Amino acid sequence: MKIDSIQNGIVLDHITAGKAMQIYYDLGLDELDCSVAIIKNVKSNKMGKKDIIKIDKEYDVNLDVIGYIDPDVTVSIIKDGKMWEKKKVALPKKLIDIKKCKNPRCITSTEQGIQHIFKLTDEKNRIYRCIYCEADK
Ligand SMILES: [Zn+2]
Repeated sequence: MKIDSIQNGIVLDHITAGKAMQIYYDLGLDELDCSVAIIKNVKSNKMGKKDIIKIDKEYDVNLDVIGYIDPDVTVSIIKDGKMWEKKKVALPKKLIDIKKCKNPRCITSTEQGIQHIFKLTDEKNRIYRCIYCEADK
């Protein structure tokens, strides 16, 4: 399978196979009007199988959203058909307005206009806790 290479845009590579759609929706890529290619189950020497997303537009991608879903993704910025910059994604220490607290008694559920903030409390197991009520995500 061959997808035309993009001139100006972003390539998300080394996505764990099966996670491309979650990244697509959580980044809000469904709201973009440019071409977005989702390539699933690409053969990879390193990973066996991987997913790739190509966005045909210069776009300020939220690295925390990607890092939260899949911290091993590589983000490449393409300009004039060439690799311009590679960005490192990492597991974010804090999630701000990325996930909502599900505890109905949490202050973020009962009051309007409060930021949903989760803190990484266990890096190995990727556990995040709400900073207001301590519920995990
Ligand atoms: Zn909470």
